Amino acid sequence: MLETRLQEELQQIRRQGLERKITDLHFLDPTQALDREGKKYLVLSSNNYLGLTHAQEVIAASRQAAASFGAGSTGSRLTTGGTFAASDLEKRLARFKHSESALVFNTGYMTNLGVLYGLLRAGDVVFSDELNHASIIDGCRISRCKTVVYKHNDMADLQRLLESEPVAGQRFIVTDGVFSMDGDIADLPTLVKLKERFDACLIVDDAHGVGVIGSDGSGTAAHYGLLGKIDLQIGTLSKALASEGGYVAGKKIIIDYLINRSRPFIFSTALSPAALAAADATLQLLETQPQKYLGVLWENSGLLRRLLSEEGLQVINGVTPIIPVMVGEAELTMKFAAGLREAGILVAGIRPPTVPQGESRLRVTVTAAHSESQLRQAAKVIGSVWRGLQGRC
Ligand SMILES: *Cc1c(COP(=O)(O)O)cnc(C)c1O
Repeated sequence: MLETRLQEELQQIRRQGLERKITDLHFLDPTQALDREGKKYLVLSSNNYLGLTHAQEVIAASRQAAASFGAGSTGSRLTTGGTFAASDLEKRLARFKHSESALVFNTGYMTNLGVLYGLLRAGDVVFSDELNHASIIDGCRISRCKTVVYKHNDMADLQRLLESEPVAGQRFIVTDGVFSMDGDIADLPTLVKLKERFDACLIVDDAHGVGVIGSDGSGTAAHYGLLGKIDLQIGTLSKALASEGGYVAGKKIIIDYLINRSRPFIFSTALSPAALAAADATLQLLETQPQKYLGVLWENSGLLRRLLSEEGLQVINGVTPIIPVMVGEAELTMKFAAGLREAGILVAGIRPPTVPQGESRLRVTVTAAHSESQLRQAAKVIGSVWRGLQGRC
């Protein structure tokens, strides 16, 4: 019975050309990977923005933590999993995010569940950007409090909804800092004004902002010069921070509350010392030499945007390493991505329901580890595959 149902659904997914599959990759360095057949790819789709997954300092820290403290954490943070590595990293994260306190969760996804599910109560209303990450949407869902969705980064729409929506309890506004599909940045100056005017708690998920924007790489608040204006800053250890895990930074009272009440924090085994130490080492590199890493990342982002535009591709403007190349039709987008794969370049094709109908695109991402010649070569290949698809080659 169950299997029949699943078979039918899977067949429908296949008929629509939407089936997803896992590809195993062996990363040789942050920019190149082999598949199982031994084919080598230039990777322009990872979230490893600073390219620090392979830094000697990071690997050494991870190895040393495993050797000193063991491979696993052995329990949840409130039992035996309260490792030195976790508390040390939280102190560093709090300082880096210019906050009183921070708390590590097992993933960024679990952080959003843990914070939203932990804090929202019946009677509260959460105002959420329509392009927010799935983990924010799911966190709002399981909290069971009312969610009001505003148009993407549309502050007039948000203001209108804040004015018209009756609220018995607390107002929350939740947004990505850097949006994962468009690479654009939330309008934090207006969000701060609105949150102050409506006495709302502002939550910004900086998964794609940390290690990417702000002069110290600390994300959206630093980018706008609005340190201390965001109530809760969420982030991940799995993107620019080159490891895995998630965190929230904010006032100590909120963190203390989450330690006591957030089920995704309480009922899951803590991250391994190795994963925590890797993130800590990455953060140390970023803290001591922000310009070294951020400077190259920004240069590479600007360069690849320019090169792709020069190849005649329609690139959405921006300053982040997320470079959307607009295609339109879902089928053409997937052909484009497959053609690039054939040519040895890995980029993600993004189609509905992740983006609206007619806005399918390639999501090209660049890291600080890519060399100029890699990017120049890649842009040429992307341009020529695109022209081939147009029948103009
Ligand atoms: C990637 C991402 C997450 C999830 O983080 P993980 O550590 O991968 O679970 C959450 N929020 C946003 C905005 C993200 O881009």
